[in-house]
Amino acid sequence: MIKQIVVVGSGLMGRGIAYVGAVGGYAVTVVDINESALQNAKQEINHIIKKGLSLGKISSEKAEQAHSNLNFESDLSKAVAKADLIIEAVPEQIAIKKQVFETIEEFSPSHCYFATNTSTMSPTEIASFAKRPEKTIAMHFFNPVHKMPLVEIVRGLETSDETAETIREVATNMGKETVVIKEFPGFITSRISALVGNEAFYMLQEGLGTPEEIDKAIKLGLNYPMGPFELVDLVGLDTRLNNLNYLHEKLGEKYRPAPILEQYVKAGRLGRKSGKGVYDYTIEEELIKK
Ligand code: NAD
Repeated sequence: MIKQIVVVGSGLMGRGIAYVGAVGGYAVTVVDINESALQNAKQEINHIIKKGLSLGKISSEKAEQAHSNLNFESDLSKAVAKADLIIEAVPEQIAIKKQVFETIEEFSPSHCYFATNTSTMSPTEIASFAKRPEKTIAMHFFNPVHKMPLVEIVRGLETSDETAETIREVATNMGKETVVIKEFPGFITSRISALVGNEAFYMLQEGLGTPEEIDKAIKLGLNYPMGPFELVDLVGLDTRLNNLNYLHEKLGEKYRPAPILEQYVKAGRLGRKSGKGVYDYTIEEELIKK
């Protein structure tokens, strides 16, 4: 039975996963190597709880329960000592994930399940960094986690039925819908999203239209809720580039990242989280499009 969840990485995704876990009734410890990321995560989660309360989305008991369920920690080996489930949400770079999985294998109890929030990578490969492939799975949340209804659950080669069922139950308790699928690079959602998002950058590079025009066409002509540039600014351009590099390596030419996307990332234009991505968020709180 899952009681204690540890979320590794307190960035955009980790903080959201921690929130839905705590509201779902789990004791959640959030771990990050970066102290200021942990502080930001704490503030952001408090803000989401406060807003949820004022909008009537959660009750005051749930809000209190969420507060008392949350802990923040910078020492991973200490944090995982009593974990029943560890959800990894560190950057989409295999070397970082490897280091995390080696550490959690060493310091967590043998009954503990491992989940990765990778957007694209192989849960089988990630499982190979530890010694419990039958207990390892991908649990792919979407951004912003507290609003997006789906968790895409991806089984690795050796993931057991029991693990898949346990993780589906946890996602349900977190208030999410699930799909359980087999592994293939990019799963269902990231494969489509990366392709559409990358094509939009190629269009921008070709001078086909402004970001506003491309976003407007996609939203109003194809009935997407967000334009590809609004979405990538939310996802993070660095995260999108990491995903594309991985898919390019695994699936070939059609996923080659647009050079202009690489340029934006080199310039530090990472999206909303850095204040500027395709659009500029620094001048006013409101989205100001340049
Ligand atoms: P992020 O850069 O916002 O956050 C990553 C956090 O991990 C940072 O706070 C960093 O300090 C921390 N970290 C780095 N190394 C660590 C370590 N060894 N131990 C503990 N913490 C460490 O990244 P993100 O956008 O939250 O993405 C995390 C994962 O979720 C990636 O695999 C990404 O592909 C996936 N994902 C992202 C999105 C999205 O929209 N951003 C959506 C779905 C899945």
